[in-house]
Amino acid sequence: MKQGKIKNNIIDLRSDTLTTPTEEMVLFMNKAPLGDDVYKEDPTVALLEKKVAEMFGMEAALFCVSGTMSNQLAIKAHTSPGDEVICDRSSHIYLYEGGGIAVNALCSVKLIDGDSGRIAPHQVKESINNPSDVHQPISRLVSLENTTNRGGGAFYDFEDIRKIKKVCEENGLILHLDGARLFNAISETPQSPKDYGEVFDSISICLSKGLGSPIGSVIIGKRSFIDKTRRFRKLMGGGWRQAGSLAAAGIYALDHHIPLLKEDHRRAKQIGEILKKSGYAEEVMPISTNIIMITPRNCNAIDFVAKMKDKNILCTAFGDRLVRFVTYLQITDSDIEEFKRRMVGCSS
Ligand SMILES: *Cc1c(COP(=O)(O)O)cnc(C)c1O
Repeated sequence: MKQGKIKNNIIDLRSDTLTTPTEEMVLFMNKAPLGDDVYKEDPTVALLEKKVAEMFGMEAALFCVSGTMSNQLAIKAHTSPGDEVICDRSSHIYLYEGGGIAVNALCSVKLIDGDSGRIAPHQVKESINNPSDVHQPISRLVSLENTTNRGGGAFYDFEDIRKIKKVCEENGLILHLDGARLFNAISETPQSPKDYGEVFDSISICLSKGLGSPIGSVIIGKRSFIDKTRRFRKLMGGGWRQAGSLAAAGIYALDHHIPLLKEDHRRAKQIGEILKKSGYAEEVMPISTNIIMITPRNCNAIDFVAKMKDKNILCTAFGDRLVRFVTYLQITDSDIEEFKRRMVGCSS
């Protein structure tokens, strides 16, 4: 089922968004019953939303186009204009969503310097503004990322999440999780989706990354919150009609692909080892899940990416110093072997 793909001899490790549907997934998608989801009449979308809500023990869910959309809908639904959102400096909601917090929710941001994208309970506490001081925006929402993207696939210790929740409860703050890669974290830790559902007010998960759907993300929370996000999704032009085939891909992914994430993590560690031995990397950051972050030796990130491209290996530069490689469903053991062949004897 995991067809090896070195397409045109290229090993593409830029992102786990590059997953393509397997044949089995396509067959399942083609059989999905359809209806108009703006009328709430697509049975497959309804089934996906029910499935995810139940998995996390939460009241309701909404199927969205992208993780960006589900994060943005959540932030907008949780806040009022002028409120402040607390998050890590490197978080996706701040760096990679087009300034959406300002545009969509009209909110300001309090940035925390976390550890590989993870913020600590005391940092959250210290970031809360005094609600009776009229100079300061009202701290409303804390947003965590798990696993972290720019932080290199690191995941939280669940005890820290519980402590952050406590700080939120004591200060009347809402807690959102950007769980684009939450199942990668869940694969490596004892907690279940329901544990996360108990702690967070809302969770956004991506079906289109490691889980292998072509498109889609789901936002989960209380029914009244989901009703609000549904309204905002329509306003943004994200109300979709016969979306059931895409929802079916999500159902298939949740039923079949979660156990495969650990394989991606194993291969990521192999890539890390190969990069260490190759002499190309000055530093390989600790690898927790499917993301490998390195700093190249003797060159900047852009030049390193170009050097790799000459070997038909694709990776992504993050700023001047960092380079990211990501494993996913279509990266097989034979791709890793081939990656190794291309990297050995190349130390500079
Ligand atoms: C990929 C990603 C998203 C959502 O990205 P889309 O491309 O909009 O689906 C959100 N948060 C994190 C941490 C991500 O890595």
